[in-house]
Order: sequence, then structure tokens, then C-alpha cells
Amino acid sequence: MNVPLLDLKLQYASIKDECLKATEAIYDSQYFILGPHVEALESEISAYCGTRYAVGVSSGTDALLLSLMAAGIGPGDRVVTSPYTFFATAGAIARVGAIPVFTDIDSETYNMSPESLNRVVEKMPADEKRSVRAIMPVHLYGQCADMDEIAMIAQQHDWLIIEDAAQAIGAEYKGKRAGSLGDFGCFSFFPSKNLGGFGDGGIVTTNSKHFYDMLVILRVHGGHPKYYHKYIGGNFRLDALQAAIVSVKLKHLDNWTAARQANAQRYRQMFDAEGLSDYIKAPMEKHDRHIYNQFVIEIPSGRAELKGFLLKNNIGCEIYYPVPLHLQECFSYLGCKAGEFPNAEHAAKHTLAIPVFPELTTQQQAYVVEKIKNFRDGNP
Ligand SMILES: *Cc1c(COP(=O)(O)O)cnc(C)c1O
Repeated sequence: MNVPLLDLKLQYASIKDECLKATEAIYDSQYFILGPHVEALESEISAYCGTRYAVGVSSGTDALLLSLMAAGIGPGDRVVTSPYTFFATAGAIARVGAIPVFTDIDSETYNMSPESLNRVVEKMPADEKRSVRAIMPVHLYGQCADMDEIAMIAQQHDWLIIEDAAQAIGAEYKGKRAGSLGDFGCFSFFPSKNLGGFGDGGIVTTNSKHFYDMLVILRVHGGHPKYYHKYIGGNFRLDALQAAIVSVKLKHLDNWTAARQANAQRYRQMFDAEGLSDYIKAPMEKHDRHIYNQFVIEIPSGRAELKGFLLKNNIGCEIYYPVPLHLQECFSYLGCKAGEFPNAEHAAKHTLAIPVFPELTTQQQAYVVEKIKNFRDGNP
């Protein structure tokens, strides 16, 4: 049996007619950048996330970068974030000239640990604390970070919150959607995300009129009116074709999310039924609603061998992420040491994402679970 980590061809087969119809009008119009399709998507996403505004941009990475720029964060400033995330989170902070400050993660949810955040803030020298401008929590794998605790610290210090919600469209925290829990919500339409385009794309949500205006101006090089520049922005524009595809897919997103959640529940039942619950640490659902951008398991040892074994048996799996950001070579200038954030380092060594995509069948899941059991029992 073959079980890919994600099967976008299956998804496309179910929406092909809609996609072709939605994009044909764009070919006819020859209007490819921003415009009515992007504006339509912006209204749909702000309604979906429960925010006043949304601004379509060129990628999830650019959503982070543009948000930092719109907040006026730059050289000399600091932004607090998680070291256990995709590189773009801290990469964006460094690219505007600011300094990433890491906290450890919670070992159950893999999201920023509020206790560690508190400790990091407490032991920061006063001058460094004054230079912090924002916290950038990541809603990793499709589950929101502990936003009440994070917001409390942000409020105390008058820091902004920039949510990296690239993996979390539709995730909820106490009834509020990801993207509506801070000052900026940054989303990615990279094809493998839960809501993906046919290429790069992203969007920023906000409730602030001021930040909305800044995002819109900086998205087109800071020209406002066109060719008059009070600010230096960049080209962060979203294509009409991507917007049209994402609009088509957004109508199906809640069904796909329900299928991912059902698959996650089925894995748990299968782990129980197969006596694997003590061996496999399944993802903890701390906050409703987890949208399972990834289903990430943890095993005590032999992660590399398990990965190799599953791949050999035609089961897609991936390590997100093998090196925590505080130990990346490019951030050595920050002076972080191995052992500084033990939960992040542990997760980087022991976790593995297995298939959870909506079209995954029960038979495929049973095969994945059987192979993991074979691996544990040492009888491949
Ligand atoms: C995918 C992702 C990004 C970057 O999005 P792109 O659209 O690929 O630029 C940023 N942060 C996280 C957590 C992501 O998963």
C-alpha cells in the first residue's frame, strides 16, 4: 500500500471544474495582480477569521515580514518567538534588522511555553526589555498557542502580538479564530498548507485601521499615492490567480478540516486498540479547535530509524523540524547554547509527522499504525 504524506492530486480531482471556471475569467481579463479577485478573497478571509481587515500578500513569509514592517519594527528592536517552528518565523524578524529572542516550548503542545516566556522576560536586562516590541507566537501544527497568558505579558509591557498562523487557518482559541487573537495574523497559502493555492501566496489579518493602511501601502513599495513614497515598502502583492483558487478552496475548508479531525481521532483509537498508546505520544488537543495541519507523534527513541522504516514501506512522513532555530548556524551570533531550550531540543529529536490529509482512508491509517507497531516490536 502507498500512503503519501499529502495527496493534492486527489483534492484537485474533487474541485477541478470549479478551479478551471474560477480562473478562466482571469485569463480572459488579463488582469493578474491584486484587483477584484484579491479583494474578494480579503473579504472572505476576514469574515472567516473574524477580523475587520485582511490584506493579500505574496507568501506566508512576506505576511510576517510585512507585518513587522507595518509595525515599524527594525534595527535595535527585539521580537520574542518560539525556536521550534519553520525558519521563516525568526527569519522575518532578523530580515527587518530586529533581534529574535527565543523562549522554550510546552512539551505537550509544542507551542510557546508561557512559563518559559515569563522566565525569559524576567531575566532580561532592563535595556533589552525596553527594546522588545512584539511577541510572535506560532500556532504550530494547527493548534493555537496559549494566547491568554501571552496576551497578558504583551499587555503588561505594551508589546504587539504578531501571530504566525501559517499552519492554523480556522484554528480556534476559546471560540476565537487564529488571526483574530493579536494585532496581526499571518497566513500562508503555500500549496501544502490546509488552505493552499497553486503557488505562493499569503494574507495578513488585522483589526486595526492604522495597521491595515500601512500593510496596504507597504505592499506596493510604500507608494501612496502611487509614485509618492513616504515609506520604503516592497513588492508583496498577491496574484489574482492564487486568490481565485484560494477562494474556491475556502468553501471546502471546513469539510476538509472535519475530515482531518476525524482522521486524528481514528489514529488515537487505533493506537489504543493496538496497545501503542504508551509507546506513541499522540498530539494533545489543548485548545478547540485543532485543525491538524500536521499530525505529529513522538516516540521515545529511534525516530530516524522509524522514519526510514515507514518510507521503505511507502508511508510518507516528515520531521518538522530537525534543528530548533536557536541552534541554527545563521543565528549563532545570538549566543544561544545547546540545552538552553530543552523542550524544543527534545521535540526536534523525537517527533515525526504522519499522514492526516482529508482524503486518507481508514485502510491507509490501519496500514500506517500496523507498520509503526511492526517497528516497535522489531519484526518488520
Ligand atoms: C509555511 C510557514 C511559513 C511560511 O509560509 P510561506 O508561504 O511558505 O512563505 C511561516 N511560518 C510557518 C510556521 C509556516 O509553517
